[in-house]
Amino acid sequence: MLSFYPGPSKVYPEVLGFIQEAFEEGMVSINHRSPRFEQLLKSTLESLHEKWNIPSDYTIYFISSATEAWEIVSQSLVERKSMHLYNGAFGKKWAHYASQIHPESVSHAFDLQASLSDISGHIDFSGVDTLCLVQSETSNGTGQLIQRSDYPLDPSSIIAVDATSSMGGIMLPWLEADVWLASVQKCMGIPAGLGLLICSPKALARAEKLQKRAHYNDILLMEENRKLFQTHYTPNVLSIFVLHKLTQYLPNLTEIHVQTLEKAKRLEDFWKNQESFELDFLIQNSTLRLPTVLALKGNPTVIQHIKHICLQNQIELGNGYGIWKENTVRIANFPSHTAADFEKLLNTLRHGL
Ligand SMILES: *Cc1c(COP(=O)(O)O)cnc(C)c1O
Repeated sequence: MLSFYPGPSKVYPEVLGFIQEAFEEGMVSINHRSPRFEQLLKSTLESLHEKWNIPSDYTIYFISSATEAWEIVSQSLVERKSMHLYNGAFGKKWAHYASQIHPESVSHAFDLQASLSDISGHIDFSGVDTLCLVQSETSNGTGQLIQRSDYPLDPSSIIAVDATSSMGGIMLPWLEADVWLASVQKCMGIPAGLGLLICSPKALARAEKLQKRAHYNDILLMEENRKLFQTHYTPNVLSIFVLHKLTQYLPNLTEIHVQTLEKAKRLEDFWKNQESFELDFLIQNSTLRLPTVLALKGNPTVIQHIKHICLQNQIELGNGYGIWKENTVRIANFPSHTAADFEKLLNTLRHGL
């Protein structure tokens, strides 16, 4: 089965060999305070910095998921009030959990067809110490440009960004935010069970100021461990090993970025030329479409038909999410999806529709 689900999705075929290698080398049994683990973690962090062009003073932590990262932001970094701007289900969930931790936190739901810079001028940011944004709203396929200058925030405020279905697939403007979070089962193309949290020096300074050490995963505790190239709990060593191998094997993210955009264009062009299919892009403005997740909207029977044709050919497409469950279909364009995979998908659709 070839999966275009927007996560979990197709895993890089190379991963099988890496898992085998981890087993043969005994990596699957190592202790997370052993020199072998420290070497693995050090090398993985260096590879990520290098291949993804992450600023050298930003620090990377391994956690269990993007969802855990939402909670860490609230527990370790928010002083009193976070603000959540969202137009989809993931942003909404994040806002919900954050408000349980900090009751003063507020949120603004905005229109599906609007950009963050369109709406930011109409919002009162007073008292906001942490702004939480979603770069990749996987539920509806919106991709937002993240830039600090869009928000009239107090200079001490920090910005946290959920980039779960874009990190590893496109270049992200690291300097434009203080926290970036993601999970590996989307653009990183490995099995689920590992999350990444990336922090700027300003985010770490906030953690220092707040001195939160109440939770096992508070940033200060994670940072103390990271300095020793260890982790705050026994992590998913197998996934870290696989991510390390893959990062070394794959080209620089600038190259992957170009490939992602090329494949996205191919997919968009295909649908643009298929007006008789009665499907439309859920996100009208192409500059607001996430290149890594395409959402198409249409009559539920047409949506069913398309998914059915694909399934008959061993291809799985993504269901709609939340309120879009019945009338949208989502197609992932992750780096693990090759041009040949897309050829197979488009041929199947060409013949079946
Ligand atoms: C998938 C996803 C999440 C949740 O990821 P988990 O690994 O399930 O924690 C959060 N945010 C976005 C935007 C996602 O796409």
